[in-house]
Amino acid sequence: MTRLLIVGPPGAGKGTQSARLTETFGIPDISTGDIFRANIREQTPLGVQVKAIVDAGDYVPDTLTNALVSSRLDEEDARDGFLLDGYPRTLEQVAYLEQLLAGKGQALDAVIQLVADQDEVVARLRKRAIEQGRADDTEEAIRHRQEVYARETSPLIAVYRDRGLLVEVDGLGDIDEVSDRIAEGLAARGIFATQDDAAAG
Ligand code: ADP
Repeated sequence: MTRLLIVGPPGAGKGTQSARLTETFGIPDISTGDIFRANIREQTPLGVQVKAIVDAGDYVPDTLTNALVSSRLDEEDARDGFLLDGYPRTLEQVAYLEQLLAGKGQALDAVIQLVADQDEVVARLRKRAIEQGRADDTEEAIRHRQEVYARETSPLIAVYRDRGLLVEVDGLGDIDEVSDRIAEGLAARGIFATQDDAAAG
């Protein structure tokens, strides 16, 4: 029963580490961005409603996002744990999530923050953009997204730090190294993947 959040700037390898965590802990990776994109692709009523907002890169209103997460956490596979990715993103969502979990007699176990030097991440994303022929993804645009991330998430990070939930992990280095650091940070808080969890994942 492990309830985790993961936060990290674009390019810090959050997707890779999330996939590993869901496997190690046998918990679903719940990404609000992925859920919105799937709804848009399938043209569900929710997808139709949020398409313009998501396309513009703006935040979907909290009421919609909160309702979405609430129903997702009600699903069977999330009953005994989850990894939330991309949510909460606002202080209102932080408060909502806390209430929601409290109502189920649950609480978060830890918030993993992947920390990465901005220059390093920008260089990494820039390299990837060139390799993938996305030269339009300029250094300036990449840097801007990093700044937006830092500005928007820092109040959330502060809240979780105050609550003693934050596990700060250096996101630079190779994938296994970062995974090991995450495992160490969680273990220091008494959070371990059991044999059963690993088998279920
Ligand atoms: P990124 O592409 O920055 O990693 P995501 O994939 O997490 O972002 O989300 C894509 C889009 O989905 C966001 O730009 C936003 O429109 C919407 N979205 C995702 N999560 C949230 C959230 N917690 N609150 C509001 N909007 C969200």
